[in-house]
Amino acid sequence: MDKILEKLFNDIEIAKDDIIGVLDHIWDNPELGYREWKTHAYLKQKYEELGLSVSEVGDIPGFFVDIDTGRPGPKIAVFGEMDGLKIPSHPECDKTTGAVHACGHHTQCASVYGVARGLVDSEVLSALNGSVRLFAVPCEELVSGEFYENLKRDGKIKFYGGKKEFIRKGLLDDVDMAIMIHGGAKGFGLNKGCNGSINKKYVFTGKTAHVAGARNSKNALSAAMLAMNAANALRERFTDGDLMRYYATVVPDSEAPGNIPAKVTVVAGVRALTTKTLEKVNEWVDLAYAGAAISSGCDLTIDNEVGYYPRIEDKNLQEVFLETARYLYKDEDIYVDLPAAAGCTDMGDVSMLMPVCHAFVGDGGPAGHSAEFKVVDKYLKGVVAAKLQAGVIYALLKDGAVRAKKVKENYVPTFKDKEDYLAKTEKLSFKGDAVKYNEDGTITVTIR
Ligand SMILES: [Zn+2]
Ligand SMILES: [Zn+2]
Repeated sequence: MDKILEKLFNDIEIAKDDIIGVLDHIWDNPELGYREWKTHAYLKQKYEELGLSVSEVGDIPGFFVDIDTGRPGPKIAVFGEMDGLKIPSHPECDKTTGAVHACGHHTQCASVYGVARGLVDSEVLSALNGSVRLFAVPCEELVSGEFYENLKRDGKIKFYGGKKEFIRKGLLDDVDMAIMIHGGAKGFGLNKGCNGSINKKYVFTGKTAHVAGARNSKNALSAAMLAMNAANALRERFTDGDLMRYYATVVPDSEAPGNIPAKVTVVAGVRALTTKTLEKVNEWVDLAYAGAAISSGCDLTIDNEVGYYPRIEDKNLQEVFLETARYLYKDEDIYVDLPAAAGCTDMGDVSMLMPVCHAFVGDGGPAGHSAEFKVVDKYLKGVVAAKLQAGVIYALLKDGAVRAKKVKENYVPTFKDKEDYLAKTEKLSFKGDAVKYNEDGTITVTIR
């Protein structure tokens, strides 16, 4: 290990009580997505105490802090997610909101703050080129409900997903690559990416009648059940490697129990490991629903919205992470090439535009998203994770940023640029009537 890297790790080690203090504070004050104002204010103050200036987003929580070497070179983003999950059965949740950091995002905020503690040292910075942008980002978990619909209606957001929103607002326009560390099962881990998702809402409209004389009715619930079975049968058209997922819930209507249901809403979603497969499963499930509506004579409206895109891991960035992890972990605690995950993250959206590595640090504790979740090793998830990220930045930006430049040169984006990303996302988010019964007896199906 060279002397400067040793100093960087040592500076973070010296700050360990401060870093764990941040971790504890945010655990004790959990907030839900796009409501992380207390976390925002607390972290802002912590960064300002280091003499760093904070650029706030404004109408939603979140900010970034730039640490610039003053020499030209790539800009590396590091993300710390601020949102908790709503799990009212968790013993340590906020009793009013049910919020708890059951996905461990509080450890991310602490470890990214730890990166700042290491990098503010002038000796470390003077060995580097380029710059670092530390993000406190809101709302990674999937959310729904009136509060969020209002944020959209008021024009404060367009997307559920803080990183998506930060992309849209231009906060990543001059960023060249992005890294982060999420809580994992155990040791240090790198996996093969994760699924993308499209959230879907179908409304079947039929014709009600009393069950006793239902000959001319159009049963919207029968149509919905047919649709769900038809979509279920699509699973066999995909391989295991596609990681295809389809899920749906019927939202009950309010018709009288003795009546044929005339309106049924199905809230559904699809997932897959590549954007191509995601588009395919999205199209086929929509066709299955349209076919079921037609067979029951019902109308169908579709409301699709891209959740998150698949996360593509950058091999060169993973290599740098792995090299850095070898300074901090024993070989038996390092897990590479872990299988791709069926879960989703808006880090996927970032990976569509720039090289990304979303590494994992685990402490062997209870699973995330459970009512039992807690961090059992704060040092690992706060301090070691800070050293890992700072070490990766150091490796990328030292020697004239030669490694970062290599990462940049070898990257092939899925979307040309932000505009292309926004336009294609809009196109995939079809909303409208899917079935039209024409006067001449033909039927028109529209799904995009
Ligand atoms: Zn989560
Ligand atoms: Zn998470």
